[in-house]
Amino acid sequence: MAWYLVPAGSKKNTEAARNRKNTLENKYFIAPLMTELEDEIQRILRFAEQDEYVYIWGAKTGPSNERTWSKLTQGDKVIFYAEESFAYLGVILATTRNREIAEKIWPSDTTNFEFIYFMTDVQRIDISAEAFNAEFGYPKGPQGFQPIALQRIEVVSNKFGSIEQSIEYMANKRLEISEINLITAKEEAGFQDEVDNHIINKVIEDNLPREIPPKTNTGNKNGQNKRDPERAKSAIILNDYKCEFNLEHVTFINRKGMPYMEAHHLVPMSAQKNYSYSLDVTVNIVSLCPNCHRAIHLGNSAVKERIIKEIFTKDRKRNLKKCGINTTIDELILKYT
Ligand SMILES: [Zn+2]
Ligand SMILES: [Zn+2]
Repeated sequence: MAWYLVPAGSKKNTEAARNRKNTLENKYFIAPLMTELEDEIQRILRFAEQDEYVYIWGAKTGPSNERTWSKLTQGDKVIFYAEESFAYLGVILATTRNREIAEKIWPSDTTNFEFIYFMTDVQRIDISAEAFNAEFGYPKGPQGFQPIALQRIEVVSNKFGSIEQSIEYMANKRLEISEINLITAKEEAGFQDEVDNHIINKVIEDNLPREIPPKTNTGNKNGQNKRDPERAKSAIILNDYKCEFNLEHVTFINRKGMPYMEAHHLVPMSAQKNYSYSLDVTVNIVSLCPNCHRAIHLGNSAVKERIIKEIFTKDRKRNLKKCGINTTIDELILKYT
């Protein structure tokens, strides 16, 4: 079994994005085209996907692509990458060279992807390009459609046990991390629980720069600056236990008899090293319903941007400045990507 890397188009390429959506993120209904395929391929596809929905991708015409594509064999694994992430992993079922079918599958594309391959078990892995390139030893990232060299596979297998395990490790590492990139999910859940159950002495409303608090020893080795539950709770109270993205969002009643809300640091705590004053001030803490809180961390870039733009009002920008935190909307959005 061999491993291949496939470029799956940049973010800006809307054509590639549509193709990804139609035949990689979702399965394509191949039944109407079935009779145009070789008998052997029909048999393989029907056997693997009884409903005749299948994942498909294609390589552009060209000698290098043709050479790589011609080696693809059933059971080989392909990893799809874009500029910033290695997004999907699929398993090859069969290949066919067929210009007419390619034009039917990706009709609006001006490029011809006649070196077609059918896949099964396509899954999202979303590994950052930085992490993948470092483990697999591509200083500048891979270029084009290519096999992963055996030496690279050996290095990664020696470290992780297998390529599959390295992928699982890199994908999970990403999932475990919250508060953009520093706090583990466990630590984050503990903090929200503490804030929710916290009985406040006095509502704090910061309007002056505050000294940077010390680092906690928990979390990862980079250390996380301490977050004050009193301030987080204050931010929620100041916002009247409402979701700042949409005041209408309804949650549930918590153990203290109030609507449950979560505290989110708009300029992420992980960016503390870039600021001279504490990011743990009430004006930087946003009260969000759990759904919006998940969305601002785990949504796609459009979702995140929509929430950030709603929260980062002129007032907030001014009040952050009073606390020594200068930022712009573009800078902020960049921190969430
Ligand atoms: Zn958060
Ligand atoms: Zn909400």
